[in-house]
Formats: sequence, C-alpha cells, structure tokens
Amino acid sequence: MTNPDKFKKIIAHAKEYGFVFQSSEIYDGLSAVYDYGQNGSELKNNIKKYWLDSMVMLHENIVGIDSAIFMHPTVWKASGHVGAFNDPLIDNKDSKKRYRADVLIEEHIEKINEKIEKEIEKAQMRFGNQFDEKQFRTTNQRVIERQSKIDEILNRFKKATELSDLNEIKQIIIDNEITCPVSGSKNWTDVRQFNLMFDTKLGSVSEDADLIYLRPETAQGIFVNYLNVQKTGRMKLPFGIAQIGKAFRNEIVARQFIFRMREFEQMEMQFFIRPGEEDKWFDYWKKNRMKWHEVLGMGDENYRFHDHQNLAHYAKAATDIEFNFPFGFKELEGIHSRTDFDLSQHQEHSGKKLQYFDPETNESYVPFVIETSIGVDRMFLSILSHAYQEEIIPNNDGNTESRVVLKIPEALAPIKAAILPLVKKDGLPELARTIMNELKYDFNCSYEDKDSIGKRYRRHDAIGTPYCITVDHQSLQDNTVTLRDRDTMVQKRVEISKLAEIINQKTNLKSLFKQIN
Ligand code: ATP
Repeated sequence: MTNPDKFKKIIAHAKEYGFVFQSSEIYDGLSAVYDYGQNGSELKNNIKKYWLDSMVMLHENIVGIDSAIFMHPTVWKASGHVGAFNDPLIDNKDSKKRYRADVLIEEHIEKINEKIEKEIEKAQMRFGNQFDEKQFRTTNQRVIERQSKIDEILNRFKKATELSDLNEIKQIIIDNEITCPVSGSKNWTDVRQFNLMFDTKLGSVSEDADLIYLRPETAQGIFVNYLNVQKTGRMKLPFGIAQIGKAFRNEIVARQFIFRMREFEQMEMQFFIRPGEEDKWFDYWKKNRMKWHEVLGMGDENYRFHDHQNLAHYAKAATDIEFNFPFGFKELEGIHSRTDFDLSQHQEHSGKKLQYFDPETNESYVPFVIETSIGVDRMFLSILSHAYQEEIIPNNDGNTESRVVLKIPEALAPIKAAILPLVKKDGLPELARTIMNELKYDFNCSYEDKDSIGKRYRRHDAIGTPYCITVDHQSLQDNTVTLRDRDTMVQKRVEISKLAEIINQKTNLKSLFKQIN
C-alpha cells in the first residue's frame, strides 16, 4: 500500500468509525473545517488530558489557565500579528490554483535534498562499513553542487523575507523553474501578502463596532495574564503557564485533512525564566517534549527535530518536532526560545509594567520565555496515521481474512474495554451488565450484544479498543471471562474480580508519566 493510498484509507476510516466528519457535511461541507465524532472526541479529550496533566501534574511550577478567544485588538498589534502574520501567496494562471510561495520554495529545496539523500544511500551500499558520510558530503561533486544550490536558495529566501521583498520571492520561483504541481506550468502571478487572521466586529451596531480578531494562537492569552497568574499564584521564576484552546487561521493552502485547518486547537505552554538561562531551558523542553512523544510507543524513528534556519528577529532558537506522517516528515510541534519579546511588546503597548521582581538577585526584569506549542489535531492525525493497520489473520475455517485495527496507544484509546455477552440469552447479558456497571466508574466501556462475536471483535479493533471481555457460559460457573488483547488477539481466561486491575495496568496515563519523568 502506497502512502497516499494509506492516507485516503485513514480519512475514510476516520469518517466511517465516528472519528472525524467534514463540518456541515449535509451542506457539502466547509473547506478545512472538521467535526469530531463520538470516538474522535474521546481520543481528542484523552490527548488533551495526557498533555495538560503532563504539564501541570508533573511540574510543580506549571499551572493551567483558560483565556478567552476574543482579546483586545491591541494585543495583536503588540504581538506583531496585525503587521506580520502574513503568508506570501502566489497563483498559477493556468491551473488557477493558489499556493504559499514559501511552501513552493521549501518543497523545491526538499526535492534537491532527496536527491542528495539518494546519492548518499547509493554510496552507502557501495562502500558498506567503510562509508564515511561526512567525507562523502564534502568531497562528492554532485552533492556539493546540490548543497550549494540549497544554501543559495535559502540565503536569497531569508533575505527576501527579512526585507518583505515579494518581487524577489517571485524571482526565486522563476529562477529555479518551479512549476505548478497541477498544471505543470511556470505561469505565475505576482506574490501578495495575505493576513491569516479572521476578523469580526464587537458590538451590535456596526458603525460603532471595533474590529476584533479570532485569536490565531493561544499564547497571547498567556502573556497578557502572566502577571495575574504570577501574583495570585505567588509563582517564582522559573514557572510555566499552560493552556489548551481553539485558534483560527485563514490558511491559504488548507489541505491534508486535519493537518492544516482553519479552526483548530492548540496546546501551548509558556515557561518564564531568568534572562541568560534560555539555552538550558530550551534544551530541557526539547528533551522533555520528545520524551512525551516517544513514550507513546509509536516508534522513535518516526520523530525528528528540525532546527529553524530562518529565525524570527526576536527568536533566539527554534526547533520543530516533526512526525513521519503518510505524506512525509512534517511539523507536529514547535519549541521556541522567544527572549523577552512578547512581554516587552505588551509592556510597551499597554503602558503597564510586566516586570518580575527577583527576590534572589534583588532585581526587576522582564522574564525570557521558552514556548512549547502543539496542535491537538495534528497530534490526533499522527496517532491515527500510525495506528491504522491492515492485517491478514487466520480465521476459524483454516483460511485467512483481513482485519483493520487501530493500534492507538492504549491510554489514549476512546473506549478501554468492550463487554460482550457471547449470546443474548441464558443470563449472559445480565452478568455482562453487572461487569459493565462495575467497570464504568473507572473506564470508558462499551456494552454490545448484537451480531456475532467475531463481528463485534472487528468493530472494536477498528476503533482501537484495547480489550474485549467476553462473557460465556463458563463465566456463570466460575466467575471468569475471556479477555482478548487488541494487538495480539490472544484470549486469556481471567477472573472477573481481576479485570479492573488488568485494564488499569495497560491503559493508565500514570505509567506513561513515569517514563517521562
Ligand atoms: P506551519 O508551518 O505548519 O503552518 P506554524 O509554524 O505556523 O505551522 P505554529 O504557529 O508554530 O505553527 O503553531 C504551533 C502548532 O500549532 C503547530 O506545530 C501545529 O501543530 C499547530 N498548527 C498550526 N497551524 C495549524 C493549522 N492550520 N491546523 C492545525 N494545526 C495547526
């Protein structure tokens, strides 16, 4: 199965099994807006709990807040979003398709990079153990030429971005003969800036109304509350504020399902520190966040850091944690060392002091900030992409059949256990109900007595339920049930009284948290 095929199947599966629906589907949908169904919203809530608890419960010095989506319009002037939260867009005159100019350039660079990687792979095969990649990169003529091409494009692009020189950005596209992926032509319009913020009006009378924005990130709600939290919580540096909430961006190129949406949810944490300690904390959060991903068991090789070359003027360092999505490695999370930029900007625009008095040094200063920022929806997509598997398995007639299983990390699975009476008579449903009534206080469980047991197993495989508990006639005799494991499909007989403990062992967040700390 090729990756594009797999991605299509994941999207279809997400709809069929109540994870993700197109928004307003009966009206033909709204582009790049999605709704989460009965299983999707459970998975999403579990992701959010995993994130927030890992911040707030595992760190004594991190607290959570919930700030409003609407904010004073000056917030977005201070943050730079009114002036600079733009994407450079370009249209192809033949296909009439619109692109982000920076994305076209990045994809072109990625193609050159892939050629370099292929050369390296080939050489690696040829030279075997003797192969020295560093030496090869600095001596192979073709690799050197390609690398210097990449450097040249990156340099030009960096300069053009700093100077907001849109003509130069277009010239880079022309000089590198970048073509439209749809029409294949080089017939481009000029590059224009496009602000990504949605605006609306506050107040009922439009003439008096003030223009306000739907927040494009949750972070500013943290910055403007920094002093409120610090004072009321008597927080001492270093300390963090975490928040989960909706953000809105009028993305030009909104595709790839829930990867890039116009309404999405972010989980952001701003960690306030003493100036001068930013490298230490940047390093700490890089490691901590990578670990948070890795302990989910989706394969360490599916994550990598991508350090930013083009840093915003206020940023000291920035890196992305990229995940290996079905369409390649792409940003899942950003970790940014933001100096005192945001707080200083708010201090200047609001005229209110946002300084911290450090009792240890007897000085007042504006703290520096390390930010971690991850999209709930992208996290959801990374889990779904990794979890979706098609397997050929033996069936009861000695033949084989296929099953689709979502190997969602157990602690995040929407339903933790399905309780299934083998048949709908002989007192089995009653016993199954008793078990359900006991387990439901600790776990999200599902009771099902329709269809054959095989069909019920498949349905729960397809939504990622870690355990199926089958109540059969023996259960009435000896108070045991069969417990079927989603991934191995192994069925074990266990005592009913042990069920809660077994399910808890496999599905609790605590064991993940213990691996992070
Ligand atoms: P990209 O380069 O992909 O547009 P970004 O660098 O603008 O992302 P940030 O502003 O750093 O993203 O936002 C932090 C996180 O929020 C991202 O890592 C991503 O997980 C999530 N995110 C950003 N934009 C979107 C979107 N349009 N849809 C879904 N998630 C998003």
